[in-house]
Amino acid sequence: MKLLLTYLPHHLPIMPPYALGYLNRFLSVNSTDHITTIDLNARWWQTFHPNILQTIRQATSDEELTVALQKAANIQVSPDIHWLQEQCKNFDLICASIQYTEQDKLANQLNIKIRGGPAASNPMHEFALLDMLTKKESIDEHQLTSFDFNQGEYCSDIIPLRTSTACWYRKCRFCTHYNYKHFFQFPLEDIASNISSRHLFFTDDMIAHPYLLKLAPKLLNHEWWIQLRPTLDITSHLQSLKNNGLKVAAWGVESGSQHILDAMDKGTRIDEISHILKKSKEAGIINIVYIMFGYPGETDKDRKQTISWLQDNANCIDLLSSSLFVPGGIEKRPPAISKIPQLPKIGTIDPVFNNFRELTLNIKRNFL
Ligand code: SF4
Repeated sequence: MKLLLTYLPHHLPIMPPYALGYLNRFLSVNSTDHITTIDLNARWWQTFHPNILQTIRQATSDEELTVALQKAANIQVSPDIHWLQEQCKNFDLICASIQYTEQDKLANQLNIKIRGGPAASNPMHEFALLDMLTKKESIDEHQLTSFDFNQGEYCSDIIPLRTSTACWYRKCRFCTHYNYKHFFQFPLEDIASNISSRHLFFTDDMIAHPYLLKLAPKLLNHEWWIQLRPTLDITSHLQSLKNNGLKVAAWGVESGSQHILDAMDKGTRIDEISHILKKSKEAGIINIVYIMFGYPGETDKDRKQTISWLQDNANCIDLLSSSLFVPGGIEKRPPAISKIPQLPKIGTIDPVFNNFRELTLNIKRNFL
């Protein structure tokens, strides 16, 4: 059996897609079948817009980079179906990693039925995919990512890396990230030996702070991006993390209303989060803040509290990443729905969220 793992064209290829690297390693270790990985997104850009990639890679100033990125943003990614079919021929089975709904639509057009990822319709997990292949006798469940991608096809030398599977906390009521998996941390030595670039993007859903503190000294000569849980135990370590290469921290704040944080079972305190972000900023770390609007039970008062919390803490927030809780999306995912009390029906969300894009843009504008 010849299996192709692929990532369909959608956006500028900044770095190799983590999921493909992981799947390739997991299936290659546990199956005797022939596994090939082709990032069709990177290949599309490399084939049709090589100059854009080259200009971004060779930019020597922020200004040059900004101009090149703006040019790239204006390019419409509209791959020709015949070109895609040509790339996929000669394989018995094709599996696509689907991060965006547009990729899911493309997969429909290509008749790719095996799909995984957050935006995949009927997603399949890696163990079900392995069942379709010729399995080895004993299965080695925990695998790091392998990087046999051609880094020259990407705009940067950043590599995605994961130190654990799932999340140790697993309580946030809206969250499905940890899904069917148990929390598992890879040995620190394995992580260190898997690092093949100076620039690292940690894709962990939520790294455990004690583990991070042991890992950080091994990252001294690197620059890295990570998602962190805003709890006080990390505060006194932020400066040493920065000194060990932490450049950007993305914080799961979600709401400026304590009432909503409690309803989500986030286990965080909004007054403490302000203090943590301030300390992080003082340490020289770039702060990204995740905010989610529209959680069941969120009132106009809660929403205003969130917006005013964002404004009060704007000096410590470098980038706001806001999203909208979509019951229709979550309903498809049993682990989450079972934990959400009184989930509202689609359409019962406050009409203000019909203008969500505008609301988000307005908030973002305040930070410019
Ligand atoms: S939102 Fe983050 S901390 Fe909460 S359960 Fe999900 S991964 Fe874990």
